[in-house]
Amino acid sequence: MPARPSALVVACSDGRLQEATDAFLAREFKITRYDRFYVPGGGGALASTGTDPVRAQQMCAECKYLVDLHAVRRVILLFHGPSADGRIEAACADYRRKLPWANLAELRASQESDAVDLIKRRREWASESGVLLFRCEVNAAGNLTFVNLDPDATLGTDRPMRVTRS
Ligand SMILES: [Zn+2]
Repeated sequence: MPARPSALVVACSDGRLQEATDAFLAREFKITRYDRFYVPGGGGALASTGTDPVRAQQMCAECKYLVDLHAVRRVILLFHGPSADGRIEAACADYRRKLPWANLAELRASQESDAVDLIKRRREWASESGVLLFRCEVNAAGNLTFVNLDPDATLGTDRPMRVTRS
């Protein structure tokens, strides 16, 4: 196809989530073709949590470079991890590397504060494009839910907004 897709997905390299991610994007946003920025941690790779701020700065620069180069109009930033009642085994390996002391609740809170921080300074990594942030949450039974982590998302439901199940 000659035309570039106008969407960029930033997600963790973790291949366990690929099919669920594709299904979510197709169902919720009718996105079936998209540019990819897949790195360990997904959205977390752009956040300054942890001991590696230089990596986060480089990732933000790479992401912005791609947004500008490909004239991306919409960036979908994904995190992943256990739901509040999920298992620690479902945690993002990159977050566990960055925060080895953290329990499940602390890992989740860290991703949520990273999301807030990334929204605030989105021009640094997404230029002028629109930004959506979700966390793919895995519950104890292994079911996935994509939860909106944008604190300003107002679609009439309590936050975090549960947008879909599979
Ligand atoms: Zn991960």
